[in-house]
Amino acid sequence: MPRDPRQLLHDIFGFPAFRGVQEAVVARVMAGQRTLAIMPTGAGKSLCYQLPAVALEGCCVVVSPLIALMHDQLRAAQAVGIRAASLTSVDADWRETQARYRDGDLDLLYVAPERASGEGFRSLLRSAPPALFAIDEAHCVSEWGHDFRPDYRLLRPLLDAFPDVPRLALTATADAHTRTDILHQLGIAADGMIISGFDRPNIRYAVHPRDGFTAQIADLLATQPGPGIIYAQTRAATEKMAASLSAKGRREVRAYHAGLDPAVRSANQAAFIASEDMVMVATVAFGMGIDKPDVRFVAHAGLPKSIEGYYQESGRAGRDGEPAEAHLFWGAEDFARARQRIFELEEARQGGERTRIAALGALVETGGCRRAVLLRHFGEDPPATCGNCDNCLSPPASIDATETARKFLSAVYRTGQSFGVQHIEAVLTGAPNDKVRQRGHDRLSVSGIVSGEEVALLRPVSRALRIRDALETNEHGGLMLGPHARPILRGEETVSLVLPPRRTRRRTARDGA
Ligand code: ADP
Ligand code: ZN
Repeated sequence: MPRDPRQLLHDIFGFPAFRGVQEAVVARVMAGQRTLAIMPTGAGKSLCYQLPAVALEGCCVVVSPLIALMHDQLRAAQAVGIRAASLTSVDADWRETQARYRDGDLDLLYVAPERASGEGFRSLLRSAPPALFAIDEAHCVSEWGHDFRPDYRLLRPLLDAFPDVPRLALTATADAHTRTDILHQLGIAADGMIISGFDRPNIRYAVHPRDGFTAQIADLLATQPGPGIIYAQTRAATEKMAASLSAKGRREVRAYHAGLDPAVRSANQAAFIASEDMVMVATVAFGMGIDKPDVRFVAHAGLPKSIEGYYQESGRAGRDGEPAEAHLFWGAEDFARARQRIFELEEARQGGERTRIAALGALVETGGCRRAVLLRHFGEDPPATCGNCDNCLSPPASIDATETARKFLSAVYRTGQSFGVQHIEAVLTGAPNDKVRQRGHDRLSVSGIVSGEEVALLRPVSRALRIRDALETNEHGGLMLGPHARPILRGEETVSLVLPPRRTRRRTARDGA
């Protein structure tokens, strides 16, 4: 006889109530229905299978892609008295774990996908069918997802070998395309999908083009109190930025990435968790599995990999519900690099990657509400303004920059599509330097056709053109016309520019709106 979920929630986990969609997900699982639960990070996904694992007769098999994450969850489950074990390449106690499974001495068994799909594991399960299959990070099954893992594709035969065992797929990260694919790949009906609200109202979102980044980030650190995380693109960049920020500022700044000496890494992490104003410069590996509710800000030094990634990483701020800030700094070169990487992917994955970059482009380019862009991405229908993002707080002016964009594209074309932004600017503004003269570019029809206030538009226009793929960069940083240049040159498409308001002092969430 299964035990009452609410009672277990209180007795085992010590929580007074379910959160959000947890109750609905648990109810479906207990009723044996196949389910895909889409819940943001921190919403409490683990409970959705851990509770049924205790309530139901038999063991719950959890497939999870990362051994480190798995072991964190394993320890957490054991800490509340759940009988749990794992079968991964780093576990030495396989025999014992298998014997415990056969004896019915386990509530939860964590297993890596490549183990789960093997024949040995299947015959273990035949000895006693599990009570539930939980597939964590289920987006890994989709080539549309940002984190495709071929191993996840091998799970389906295992699931189908036990058609009566309920399946619960869980993910924080799924656009409409990926969701449909997960349902299809894991054999779950569309009406088995439960989506929880994604809004994090206490996080104030702000997006800035990188422009003197060292000063921008120093300004942020000087005005934003509390613990914070800065995500950098590479391991080397984390160390460099941490060193330069701690040399300049008064706050303690440390670095974190997977390549650091393990002792240094865990010391830095422990210090951050204990601190009330430390700043951690880290790769995106930092934050997974750490529980620090009072992070006051998260800054991205460059473009994240996807909206899902951005949502998840920025979501590490303000878990305590108090005001927090998320700052995204981007440059046109981030988009160029991201597009370059598309060509290194197999063809089947290129479409998904293009869509991801376009979605990021929409987030940074919008003159409207950032939160609305994020929430619409997750399938919600948010109000047009939130009152707590940069654009809602100081609505930017938008102007039609089509004419300037056409001048810019013409100059790129007429100079032979191999020069950088500075050269194009020098040509267009008629401020010829030696290089311009040597090439004879001061005699082109585009020489000196931009003057006065229009000059200030050239940089933003070049960024906008690069975001929308009207300009591409060659391997030396030279600009070339991209596939979207033609409709702009022909006057079929317009380019409007969002002009950031002139900033005086940076406002922080604590100043109030
Ligand atoms: P996710 O996997 O969705 O990111 P977790 O399962 O790690 O989230 O849960 C995030 C945090 O929320 C954990 O500290 C967990 O103990 C807590 N939590 C989960 N469910 C509840 C609940 N019903 N009430 C209070 N806290 C909860
Ligand atoms: Zn807004």
